[in-house]
Amino acid sequence: MEEKLARKRLVLVPIPAQGHISPMMQLAKALHLKGFSITVAQTKFSYFSPQDDFSDFQFITIPESLPESDLENLGQILLALKLNKECHVGFKECLGQLLLQHGNDISCVIYDEFLYFAEAAAKEFNIPSVIFSTTSATAFLCRSVFDKFLNEFKEKQDELVPEFHPLRYRDFPDSRRAPLESITELYRNAVDKRTASSVIINTSSCLESSSLFCLQESLEIPVYPIGPLHMVASAPTSLLEEDTSCIEWLNKQKQNSVIFVGLGSLALMEINEVMEMVSGLAASNQNFLWVIRPGSIRGSGWLESLPEEFSDIVLDKGYIVKWAPQKEVLAHPAVGGFWSHCGWNSTLESLGEGVPMISKPFTGDQKVNARYLECVWKIGMQVEGDLDRGAVEKAVRRLMVCEQGEVMRMRAVTLKEKLRRSVRSGGSSHNSLEEFVNFLRTL
Ligand code: UDP
Repeated sequence: MEEKLARKRLVLVPIPAQGHISPMMQLAKALHLKGFSITVAQTKFSYFSPQDDFSDFQFITIPESLPESDLENLGQILLALKLNKECHVGFKECLGQLLLQHGNDISCVIYDEFLYFAEAAAKEFNIPSVIFSTTSATAFLCRSVFDKFLNEFKEKQDELVPEFHPLRYRDFPDSRRAPLESITELYRNAVDKRTASSVIINTSSCLESSSLFCLQESLEIPVYPIGPLHMVASAPTSLLEEDTSCIEWLNKQKQNSVIFVGLGSLALMEINEVMEMVSGLAASNQNFLWVIRPGSIRGSGWLESLPEEFSDIVLDKGYIVKWAPQKEVLAHPAVGGFWSHCGWNSTLESLGEGVPMISKPFTGDQKVNARYLECVWKIGMQVEGDLDRGAVEKAVRRLMVCEQGEVMRMRAVTLKEKLRRSVRSGGSSHNSLEEFVNFLRTL
């Protein structure tokens, strides 16, 4: 651990979603190792229960009176908008109490970009604030121009967006679960830096140097790319219990022989899509490990609404778990490919292990990431349109047994090495983190 200095305190405010809590807690760990005290302010939603690993951290709950059901019913965009309206007063109370408790020794509030109420509350106490973006720099840029293209989204789907090569209008981060006005409202607020003194972002300049350059130009406050954070600090942050039996199953498989199928913490599939997927996987003749989260098949608690045929097909070549230790799975030598929804964390975790991907994005920034995987980093292939068994079989075989997949695997390994260098001493993300820490020490 670095020199303890005066142990300045940082207050971190994650948005309640697995894909945001994990990088926020990895950031917390990294900053704690640099000598800062940490307070994490959460809402009751997707509450991350601190384990032994976080015994030095203070956890507080922001009081609000939203119904529990909002988490499931509203979807991410509408929930974020509601949290911003409802949590300001509660968070102000929290900050007031923390100031009394810690003798005014709070250096900074670091808030998830979608929880801008935290900035407003911090400002009222003259506490500096920092935006933490847990998505890519390119997705951030897309959000910053989102409202300019509202007409084009419908009419020009397949056309390239000027100055956003290789993104098409269809790749822009919209959402099926919220009206365009709400998406626009959230994005407009999220990209507004207000009084924030800097932006930290979970990416690396070796992945997105030109987007980072544009972001830096447009924001005019320091932007620190300090990721991939899971390669900087480890923090067990799973909201669901990990089934480690899949590692024993992987131990019995040959090198690069398994396709890992994981769609993150939020995506939903229809029953017919699950059946197309499993039939395509079977037809590809490859072994597969598939995470099917309880509640992730519409109309089914877990697997019970699926036709019997499902289990018969899985028995032969597959292994199903409710939730996997994903980073460990991706690091396993038996895993040769990742069929993913392309959430930013999953993307970074796969890049960090040199695993090539098949992308089937559902919504939001996943579409941006999928396009980058295919056209910029060239280590992924996107399956577009309706999911049918033929497309699944073809994509899996291309990735797992064809030369095209082998070339992608080699590129993925090269990119993995670049990422590893970027977080090591002297690397770009490492240097950015040092600069950010030095900046925090001046506050
Ligand atoms: N994850 C996991 N086990 C699983 C599935 C997902 O630990 O079985 C983790 C994964 O490692 C990642 C996060 O959940 O860190 C999902 O975040 P991502 O940004 O990829 O997608 P989201 O869930 O936000 O759609």
